[in-house]
Amino acid sequence: MKFRVLVNMVLVAGLALPFAGQAWAGKDDKKADQKAAKEAVDPVCGMTVDPATAEKATFKGKTYYFCSLDEKKEFEKTPEKFVGTDKDKKKK
Ligand SMILES: [Zn+2]
Repeated sequence: MKFRVLVNMVLVAGLALPFAGQAWAGKDDKKADQKAAKEAVDPVCGMTVDPATAEKATFKGKTYYFCSLDEKKEFEKTPEKFVGTDKDKKKK
């Protein structure tokens, strides 16, 4: 019986710990990544950014995300420099 209480405590502690939450979120991210785009690539520096928190700008009806406001400004100055037709081909 004591063992069961201990297990419950561990479970509760595990759920309450932010770290555990992040671990789970990380797992979910990998799965969700394949279904829906939960991440976006900053066209200026190529960094992966979170659309929920990133700076964004719209160009030709498409929304782009940036890791910083500076890069958003940079992009808005010359968007075609970053999302030109040659970059539409998917190559990494
Ligand atoms: Zn960037």
